[in-house]
Formats: sequence, structure tokens, C-alpha cells
Amino acid sequence: MDLEEALTQIRDELVPTQSVETIPVASALGRVLAESVRAPVDLPPFPASAMDGYALALPEDGNVDSKFYTVIGESLAGHPYESNNPVQIGECVRVFTGGVCPAGTNQVIPQEEVDRLEAGTVSFQAHIPTESFVRPVGHDISAGALLLERGCRLDAFAVGSLAAAGQTSCTVYAKITVGVFSTGDELVDATVKPEDLQPGQIYDSNRITVLNLLSTEPCNLLDLGRLPDDAQSTTNALRTAAAECDFLITSGGVSVGDADFVTAAIAELGELSFWKLNLKPGKPLAFGRIGACVLFGLPGNPVSTIVTLLLVAKPALRHVCGVQKEEKSVITTATLNGRLAHTPGRAEYQRGSARWDGNRLVVSSTGDQASNRLSSFRNSNCLIHLPKDAHDLPDASVVEVLLFEGILS
Ligand code: AMP
Ligand code: MG
Repeated sequence: MDLEEALTQIRDELVPTQSVETIPVASALGRVLAESVRAPVDLPPFPASAMDGYALALPEDGNVDSKFYTVIGESLAGHPYESNNPVQIGECVRVFTGGVCPAGTNQVIPQEEVDRLEAGTVSFQAHIPTESFVRPVGHDISAGALLLERGCRLDAFAVGSLAAAGQTSCTVYAKITVGVFSTGDELVDATVKPEDLQPGQIYDSNRITVLNLLSTEPCNLLDLGRLPDDAQSTTNALRTAAAECDFLITSGGVSVGDADFVTAAIAELGELSFWKLNLKPGKPLAFGRIGACVLFGLPGNPVSTIVTLLLVAKPALRHVCGVQKEEKSVITTATLNGRLAHTPGRAEYQRGSARWDGNRLVVSSTGDQASNRLSSFRNSNCLIHLPKDAHDLPDASVVEVLLFEGILS
């Protein structure tokens, strides 16, 4: 199955969470909005000065002439000029950025353009202003306009917009609970000293990597420890975990080897789709359900675990968390530095290191891409996509890259 097909099937099958909660805007970062929000007021709610200067009523011909204007008052941000009478031609009000432009005014002359300032009057060089320097009511957003859409992830900008619109609380999807297991008798914790490692033992790295890669997702993460390679223990543990979690992620134990118990346990307890993805790394992948709990059994090789997590399980998790628009992932093109061997048949995602060379983004492979080599991620900042049908890619080919971090993270 191709990656796109798998993602479509996941979206079709997985129902986003329906439970919502109302939380303070101040703690909404990263959460998913469960109700669209419309602006309750115009922003700005009054015509506001964009400059420090003098607000005046520009005559019909649009000319500021060099006569003296009487300064009849001042309007500071938060301290408007109060009067029942609109400002007349020949009068002006001293205004500061963000201050209300008083009734009758339609033009702010920046203070840099003051020619003479004498005893309550001010004059400017005669000119026709090129802009009004008045921010009209609703210039940023008008009352009733859609501010944020249901299903959007609340990033710092979105939270800022809620604050700008005077919102103190917002309705978001409740956090789902996500449990993470690793599996394998060969795995030990880092509490075992290197000199005490028994033959065949390795340290468990997948669990902490998966937990960290999901740490900014809008969910509660549970570290559920390690499962032994044993059918009964695996079945028992998954049954218990599925009752407590909305979403489970395991790594290892999903190949077709004798010691692969995750797939068998899911099949016994619920429904299982076992996929041979047309994806390198990460061919075998289990996707299923135990009761209402969604389960992803990722392959155990660390690189395969990470790539399938990023490309398959994480988008699925976001979908279940209520995210409707996939976030702007940074996918771009880069010029390949060196040649990459590839046999048509499977889409491949190699670890790459992208850097700017003048105005060109150039990407190099991080070397040996074997799926056990977590070190292929060292110094990597992207995945290089080798399309399914591609043959060897010669030096200087244009390739698609998925950048790990954008400007904000
Ligand atoms: P499996 O899919 O269980 O056959 O595992 C495939 C390979 O990944 C084996 O070499 C495992 O030792 C390794 N592996 C599985 N789980 C982990 C883990 N949590 N941390 C590090 N390596 C792992
Ligand atoms: Mg295993």
C-alpha cells in the first residue's frame, strides 16, 4: 500500500474526538479549537492613528496648505480627546500612535512634517498626503468576521488573535490519552550499566523517542513501559491499556517473525489491518482498534519507527485530536549534493542535511541509511523524498525535502 492510500484510509476510518472543554485562552497553546470563533468587536474598535502627529479634517481638495492649524486638544493611546463637537477645518488634535482620531478628522500628519509650532498652533509644508495614517474601524478584523476555524491548532498567532479579540476562554477538544509501549526481550533500560549488558541486549531508544516526538501534540502521553516477547503478556497489557487510552503506539513486534506478538494480540482483541507499506524505511505496520482505542504497531528498527511515526501515526493522531487542516508542514525542494541510489518500487525517505548555498537550498544524505542506524538522524534536519518510481538520482537532481523544523520550532 502506498503512503497516500494508507493516510486516506486512516482518515476515512478514524473518527475525531467529540469531547470538548472550555479552557482559559492563556493555556490554550497547542490545543485544537472545537468551535469557530468570530470577532465580537471591530479591531480596532475606533479609527486609530498610525502615527504620532496631528489629526485634522482634510478639505475636499485633499490639500494640506501651509496655514496654521489650532491645536484644540490631544488624544493619547487610551486617553481620547473628549468633545461634543467634531474637529473643524483649520483645527487639529495632537494624536499619538493608537490614539483615537477624533470625530471630524480623516487625516493624520506625522509630527516629522511639522513646519512651525507656535503658541497652540501648528503648520506644515503644503502637500497632498499620500496616505491618511488613520487605521479605519475594523482595519485588522471586522466584527462578526471569522477569526479562527474549528479544527485549527492554536499556535502563538492564533492565541494572540483570541487575546486581541478580548477572549478569555475558548472551547477546544479535550486531550485524548495516548499510551506508548516498546516491545522486545532484548531491550533494557539505561539503568543497566554498559558493562552489565548481557549478550544480545540493547538499550530501548524507541519509547523515549516516540514520547519526545509527540510531546507537543494536544494529548496526554503515558509511558507504558516495555512488553516482553510473550503472547499472553502482550495480550493482557494491550487489553488493559486499550481500556485506558484512546490511542496506543507500540514499536517492534509487527514483522512476520515468530517473536512478533503485537499483531496477534490486536487481531485477538479487536480488529487489525496489517499493512505492507510501499515505504522505505518502515514496510510492516499494524493499524487497528481494540474497542474504541486506535492502535498503531510501528516497526521496531529505530529509523523505521521514527519515519512511520512522522509520516503515518502522527498525522493519524492529529486527525483523532480534531485537527482539520493539516499544519503547514515545511515541504520544499532542494538540489541534491551527491548521487542517491534508488530502485523503483517503494517511496523512500532518507535522512538529509539541508543548508543554504547562496540562494539555493542544497541537501546531502547523512550517509549509511540502514534502518537500525539511529545515527543517520545525527546532523539531519530533513527527510529527502525519493519517489516510488524514481531510479537513481544523479548529483544536482531537484528533490523534495520535508524539513523537521521551521522558523518557530
Ligand atoms: P522487531 O520489529 O521487534 O523485529 O525489531 C526490529 C529491530 O529493531 C530489532 O533489531 C530490534 O532489536 C530493534 N528494536 C525494536 N525495538 C527497539 C527499541 N525500543 N529500541 C531500540 N531498538 C529496538
Ligand atoms: Mg522485537
